[in-house]
Amino acid sequence: SETSYLVGLIGTGVGPSLTPAMHMAEGRAFGLDYSYRPIDLTAAGISPDRIGEVLSWARALGFDAVNATHPCKQLVMAHLDHVDPVAATLGAVNTVLFTDDGDVGYNTDTTGFAHGFTEGLPDADLADVVLVGAGGAGTAVADALLRLGAAHLTVVDLDVDRAGALAHDLATRHPLQRVDAAAFDKLPALLPESSGVVHATPTGMAEHPGIAFDASLLRPDLWVADIVYRPLDTALLQAARAAGAPTLDGGHMAVYQAVDAFALITGLHPDADRMTRHFRQL
Ligand code: NAD
Repeated sequence: SETSYLVGLIGTGVGPSLTPAMHMAEGRAFGLDYSYRPIDLTAAGISPDRIGEVLSWARALGFDAVNATHPCKQLVMAHLDHVDPVAATLGAVNTVLFTDDGDVGYNTDTTGFAHGFTEGLPDADLADVVLVGAGGAGTAVADALLRLGAAHLTVVDLDVDRAGALAHDLATRHPLQRVDAAAFDKLPALLPESSGVVHATPTGMAEHPGIAFDASLLRPDLWVADIVYRPLDTALLQAARAAGAPTLDGGHMAVYQAVDAFALITGLHPDADRMTRHFRQL
C-alpha cells in the first residue's frame, strides 16, 4: 500500500487552517510520508471559478487528494467524475480523491459533524431541534441532523429568505421528516419547545464576539452544540453550561471532518482520540 501522500487545501484565506497540521501529525503517527499543503487561490492570483483547472493541475502534479473550502465547495462539483451520494444530496464537496477511476467528491463536513455529535452528545434527544445559521456550515449540519434522525428541524437565520430556502431544500431531500423555517424573532417561542439547538453563525468568534440569541432561553433540558471553534469555549457554551445544559463545542466537527477525510485519502482508520488531542494542543 501507499506510504507517501501529497494533499492540498484549496480555497481563499486558507493559510491559518489547522487542518494541514492535523493531517500531517496523523500521517507521521502511521509512519507515512504525508504532506498537506494549503493552496491559497487569493495569494496565487487565481480566480475560484478556475477551480476545474486547479483540480487538473493538482492531479497532474501528483496530488493524491485535495480538500476544498470556501468558496470552492459548490464550484468543484461540476468538475468531478463521481460524487458520493451524501455530498450530492447536500450539493457541496469538501474532499476530492484523484483515483484511477477519476476525480471523486465527498463531503466530510456533514459526516464529520454527525460523527462528532454522536461521540460528544450520544444521548441527545433529536425530537425537536433548532438550527441557528443557514449558511454553508449550517447546511452541512442540517443534513447531518436529519440523517441522524431529527424528527423536526427548524431553521432560523437573520436572513429569513435563506432560512426558508434551506428548509425547503431539506424538506425535499428528507421527505419523511418535518423541516420548517422560522423568523429570528420567533426563537423565544421556539426554544422552550425544543430538545436541542445548534449554533452555526459566526457569532462568538474572536472577530464577532457575543451570543447570537438571548441566553436566558437556555435551560438544563436543551442541549447546545456550537460549531464555532475559534475560540473553542464560546460565550454561548459558557452560558449553556451555567444554565446546566449539555454542550458540544465546534472542535468535534473540526476534528472529525479531518478524521473522515484522512480515512478516505489513505484507506486507514485514523485514531480520532489522537487527532482530537493534537487539535486541542494547536
Ligand atoms: P456563512 O457566512 O455561509 O453563514 C452564516 C449564516 O449565519 C448566514 O446565513 C447569516 O445570515 C447568519 N447569521 C449571521 N449572524 C447571525 C445571527 N446573529 N443570528 C442569526 N443568523 C446569523 O458562514 P458558514 O460558512 O456557514 O460558517 C458559519 C460559522 O461556522 C463560521 O463562522 C465558523 O465559525 C463555523 N464553522 C465551523 C466549522 C467546524 O468545523 N467546526 C466548519 C465551518 C464553519
